[in-house]
Amino acid sequence: MSIGVTRYFIDAHAHIMTEKRNRGGLRWAHRMIKDFQSPQETDPEKLLSHATSCGADYLFNLFYPLRAGETRTIHQWQYQFATKHPEVIPFASIHPADEDKIGILTEALDVLGMAGVKIHPYVQEFDLLDPRMEEVYSYIEARQCPLLIHSGFARFYGLPSMAEQVDTFLKRYPRMKVVLVHMLWPDREIEFCKDYLEAYPSLYLDITNTACLVQEHPGQSEMLRSFIARYSHRMLAGSDFPMSAAYPVSSVYQAIYNVCPDRESAENVCWRTAVHLVGAERFIGLNLT
Ligand SMILES: [Zn+2]
Repeated sequence: MSIGVTRYFIDAHAHIMTEKRNRGGLRWAHRMIKDFQSPQETDPEKLLSHATSCGADYLFNLFYPLRAGETRTIHQWQYQFATKHPEVIPFASIHPADEDKIGILTEALDVLGMAGVKIHPYVQEFDLLDPRMEEVYSYIEARQCPLLIHSGFARFYGLPSMAEQVDTFLKRYPRMKVVLVHMLWPDREIEFCKDYLEAYPSLYLDITNTACLVQEHPGQSEMLRSFIARYSHRMLAGSDFPMSAAYPVSSVYQAIYNVCPDRESAENVCWRTAVHLVGAERFIGLNLT
């Protein structure tokens, strides 16, 4: 493992999908991001071996449906990919217009062994507070499995900030194990997340992309460092690979390491919080004693 000096690295945010969806994702990234550094590769096997050769011991793999009716097929693909590659930890997803949402999620969590659920209201085109999702949220809260919610980068998506919806959501589901992905950055001040962490003991922050993009804003970068110094035990990070902010993905892993102010916080952000979030039993390849 060659990232900084942490013991392990768990990429807590990757999107290795079917070849067709990888191709679509990369096309989208080229459209959206000036100077996007593409892996020039869409084969999921090759993408995974790039990430592991860059230092990822494990990856949380996130693959969500863009339309109703495709979720079960995606989950089956995720299950097979993860069965073949024990370093892949698959996450379920759902579309608000899916039929039998609770049936789909129960199957994903209980039969296919998925570690949690990821939703991306911007890309999946729904409002976080969409009433069709209420049964899903209540179910996830009762199951105590993690829900990863994309938040932040409103301007990038050309859509309004989700800050108010996130406030309401957390008030409604205060005990849910929520991972606020990108910590609402840059739509809300980094320091604001302190209030969330203190009010909601089951809340975590994923600093994917935030860790890389703050580098362009020295003041923000300092703010994030001092925030990590206090809350690294509630923070995790990943690459968004293959739609990551830089290529090869080792440079993303290195940027995450670099934004951590000390060794202890780097161990938390680079792997320990991720283990804590989904449970040590999923990481049989790591010596956690
Ligand atoms: Zn992502």
